Amino acid sequence: MAEKKSSSKKVKCPRCGALGWIQVKRISGRYYYYCVHYEGKGKRRYCYLGPDIYEYASRTHAREGLVLRGLSDRERVIAYLDAIIMYLERNPLEPELAERLAEKLEQLAKGLREYARKERGKEAEEGAN
Ligand SMILES: [Zn+2]
Repeated sequence: MAEKKSSSKKVKCPRCGALGWIQVKRISGRYYYYCVHYEGKGKRRYCYLGPDIYEYASRTHAREGLVLRGLSDRERVIAYLDAIIMYLERNPLEPELAERLAEKLEQLAKGLREYARKERGKEAEEGAN
């Protein structure tokens, strides 16, 4: 059975930036967070914010659309990047900052590929033994 609880104050939705109310649904002992947007004539739109978010910490990152997630969420790094990408699409950077960011992302991508290649190599070695 789902229990619902809404925030009493209107908040800026970390996903879409519109004002709404944070709603928590408790399903089988886990908490799932939504931002509910009332769009007139009883119409509601829900933005899913994810499970086990750190609601209060996330408010400080609302502008960037970042919703901080619990350690149990192993995919959170992807969600964080998606939020940053969405933010950058809505808020273009100064050219200098854009170049600095692109450089950092290229370094990161290179490092991640190297790491993945090494780890796969280890797994292959262990599999052969
Ligand atoms: Zn929203």
